[in-house]
Amino acid sequence: MHKVTLIPGDGIGPSISEVAVEVIKAAGVKVDWDRVEAGLPAIDKYKDPLPEHVLESIRKNLVALKGPLTTPVGSGFRSVNVALRKEFDLYVNLRPARSFIGVNTRYENVDLVIVRENTEEFYAGIEHYIDPARSAAETIGVVTRSGSERIIKYAYEYARKHHRKKVTTVHKANILKYTGGLFLEVARQIGATYPDVKTEDKIIDNMAMQMVLNPHQFDVIVTTNLFGDILSDLASGLVGGLGLAPGANIGYNAAIFEAVHGSAPDIAGKNIANPSAIILAGVMMLRHLNEDAAADRIEKAVEEVLKEGKSVTRDLNPANPVGTREMGEAIIAKLR
Ligand code: NAD
Repeated sequence: MHKVTLIPGDGIGPSISEVAVEVIKAAGVKVDWDRVEAGLPAIDKYKDPLPEHVLESIRKNLVALKGPLTTPVGSGFRSVNVALRKEFDLYVNLRPARSFIGVNTRYENVDLVIVRENTEEFYAGIEHYIDPARSAAETIGVVTRSGSERIIKYAYEYARKHHRKKVTTVHKANILKYTGGLFLEVARQIGATYPDVKTEDKIIDNMAMQMVLNPHQFDVIVTTNLFGDILSDLASGLVGGLGLAPGANIGYNAAIFEAVHGSAPDIAGKNIANPSAIILAGVMMLRHLNEDAAADRIEKAVEEVLKEGKSVTRDLNPANPVGTREMGEAIIAKLR
């Protein structure tokens, strides 16, 4: 029996997380879920977006599956997602994006892994207006040598372990000479110690264009926090959209698994969200828990449902879609 913290999230979160829980159960993995609320539902209940008992649950279980959490734009409370990553020093954000047969996209056989630095730079929360009149604002992005070393090493070790051929470091060191320059310097130093993995670097603007034009040239991509966030949504767009993109936040001790996407308020409560991204995040979680056989079975079940294209949500089959729950049931049926 695995003990796992479940944060259902808000918006589309509760409905897709529930499907993921059912799928994991149907695959025969015994999980004792500790369901806790964070974000908007926690503010309603506890007047705190990240109550202490949520942190306590993750501290104890060290593994969590998390639905998306809304962060107010421009003002309001700070991101609970970012707070969790900082609290547990989840310095790796691993975001694979790969093509599925049956999903209509511009390219076939895309298979990228984005390794995003998850704790530093512009997400560290060092920001303020310079005066009460709010005539100017500053956000300070701090990049450290040790923070760069650990994420870049992770990317190379990941490439080696998963037999990937190349690591591309993405940066803006031509303009951000210090933060970008430090990250690139460390990448070149570490890259030189992995002669078995091809090393290259690209400036972010060119990288965005290259990924759209020819994504097949890339394999593992390592980059700083903000660029990694943007490129992972871009990568999901190459393989069929956010409904198919899972992610893992990994630290030395704890790990939190979630979809790349957010709470999608535009489609919440309508039973139309694609549950695949969080189910695939569940697959990453099961591998982390050494439940490889169940993870493989769930992944195969998702692949089959996508390939058939009959029981998929609106984002994948706008002409003839099924609902979130029905897509979950189709995946579960493949597991029986
Ligand atoms: P979003 O990812 O929620 O949605 C972007 C677009 O993709 C929307 O049109 C949405 O309908 C669609 N989409 C997302 N997930 C989908 C799914 N599973 N199936 C079908 N379509 C899907 O991004 P947003 O609208 O910019 O952000 C909404 C909120 O989510 C914001 O408050 C943001 O801060 C938050 N957010 C949270 C996380 C997280 O919890 N880790 C990540 C990203 C954004």
